[in-house]
Amino acid sequence: MVDRLVNSEANARRIAMVESCFGSSGQPLAEQGRVLVGEGVLTKMCRKKPKARQFFLFNDILVYGNIVINKKKYNKQHVIPLEEVKLESLKDDGQFRNGWLIRTASKSFAVYAATATEKEEWMAHIDKCIEDLLRKSGKQPPSEHAAVWVPDNEASTCMHCKKTQFTVLNRRHHCRKCGSVVCGPCSSKRYLLRGQSDKPLRVCLQCFDELNRERARPQAQAPPATTPPVKADASGSGGDSSADEDSDDEGVTAEENHDEYKLNCPKFYGDSEKTEETNNHSSKDSAK
Ligand SMILES: [Zn+2]
Ligand SMILES: [Zn+2]
Repeated sequence: MVDRLVNSEANARRIAMVESCFGSSGQPLAEQGRVLVGEGVLTKMCRKKPKARQFFLFNDILVYGNIVINKKKYNKQHVIPLEEVKLESLKDDGQFRNGWLIRTASKSFAVYAATATEKEEWMAHIDKCIEDLLRKSGKQPPSEHAAVWVPDNEASTCMHCKKTQFTVLNRRHHCRKCGSVVCGPCSSKRYLLRGQSDKPLRVCLQCFDELNRERARPQAQAPPATTPPVKADASGSGGDSSADEDSDDEGVTAEENHDEYKLNCPKFYGDSEKTEETNNHSSKDSAK
């Protein structure tokens, strides 16, 4: 059904619309063979708290951004190649319902839909796109994925030493290997985690030891030992905790009104193309 959309005018128009909403803060999205499969607002678990984010599912990439003005202006664009994505359903947990993980080698995070049906739709569409892509390219999905970060407020003390209380001065850090919230001394080491960065990244002491043990094992599954463990502060960027920020975590204050977005159901194109077209035309006509 998606194939039918490839050269459609409606598809080109929709992609141009997404581009214009991101404006200069985004990258060009129109590309030969690319189809916008669906779009909608999902709640993304960020470092500090869940936040509404606008998601666009294309047949080869997943794009999301912060909502500056609903349906008009987005920024902080992130583009994830679907070939690298693996989804994992999450069980409902208190207020966190209808969620799943979006996992890639470089970044993993949880998102939540408004209803179980929307979750089902999103996951099915994303999985279908991934499946088609991998079948066409013959590639294998990546076997290693970045850790999902434990949200800040789930840890008031260091998850490694279990002693350090976090305060304004004792800041939280995240282990890039396991995602734990740890204190500075418990995450003073850096390790080169390929897939996530070319630079050594902050890891907790436990992961640092495990990674070294893995590397030392003669038949370790890890790639050949061309990646020596790196001393703390070797990269120069290591000590600065700004490297700890989730890149899209800082809020735009205008986007905190979640309820408003919840009213917008996700839209998936394809089989409904005909009606979609008709709707567009009629709404345009009536606007004249
Ligand atoms: Zn600690
Ligand atoms: Zn760790």
